[in-house]
Amino acid sequence: MNQPTIAFIGAGNMAFSIIGGLVKQGYDHTKIWATNLTEDTLKDVKQSFNVNTTTDNATAVNEADVVVLSVKPQVMKEVVQSLAETFKSQKPLIISIAAGITATTLQEWIGAPSAIVRCMPNTPALLQCGASGLYKNPQVSDQQAGIAETLLKAVGITLWVKEESGIDAVTAVSGSGPAYYFLFMEAMQQAGEALGLDSETAKQLTLQTALGAARMALESSDDPATLRKKVTSPGGTTEQAINTFNEGELSALVGKAMKAAADRSEELS
Ligand code: NAD
Repeated sequence: MNQPTIAFIGAGNMAFSIIGGLVKQGYDHTKIWATNLTEDTLKDVKQSFNVNTTTDNATAVNEADVVVLSVKPQVMKEVVQSLAETFKSQKPLIISIAAGITATTLQEWIGAPSAIVRCMPNTPALLQCGASGLYKNPQVSDQQAGIAETLLKAVGITLWVKEESGIDAVTAVSGSGPAYYFLFMEAMQQAGEALGLDSETAKQLTLQTALGAARMALESSDDPATLRKKVTSPGGTTEQAINTFNEGELSALVGKAMKAAADRSEELS
């Protein structure tokens, strides 16, 4: 299949990362459009990837088979409504990466049935190490779903959810997830310092341990629970720490925290 032409409406951080991932993978840069409010804000993406740029969103949408809505949620309504007529005539696949805006709401703003994929990426996408949850509405064809997947795979792994409410769960797991790990790293570094390590040593040991544990969990055929048991010798040091986490009901706390995140995501959409 020929590579579809893609227009990124609001070429900020997230769009820059996706475009970077696509170009790195050999996507034809002449088939990519990027828009922003001013020429100045488009300089970087133009210079880095030699894509087409414009400050007129409709010009880019007119060229596109796929439109990635990558503006902030608070300006989405205005942007989508201003493009509604172009969407109706062009009928592109619309991919929204904005948090908290449902496919139904987008469709209402457009005022016509439209093929919409809603995507929840996360910040490691900026390093092409992201995890994105995707939902497609019934108007999306299999071919369009494949295009959306290819696009988001440029910045990490992709997983589909069947119901749109699944995006709230994705938000709680991977969308907000990087912050949970940062919090845990923060706490580990502080605890290392309290045990007498200097701050740089505590930080480096914490971060490399997080990276090593994540790589082991990804590359091993064992699940995380088995890996944990394998490194927890009876009567040893790790067991003391794990027992302390269990006494503090860490699993229940994680469950409660993630339920709060999912509830908030639902509330916002
Ligand atoms: P960003 O602010 O870096 O990018 C948005 C860009 O849109 C800005 O450069 C802005 O100048 C431009 N813009 C504003 N109004 C415009 C208009 N009318 N026409 C064209 N361009 C316009 O934001 P980001 O971090 O790239 O996030 C983009 C979207 O991705 C948001 O909706 C956010 O919810 C979603 N998202 C981001 C992350 C993340 O980790 N950054 C994670 C999940 C979802």
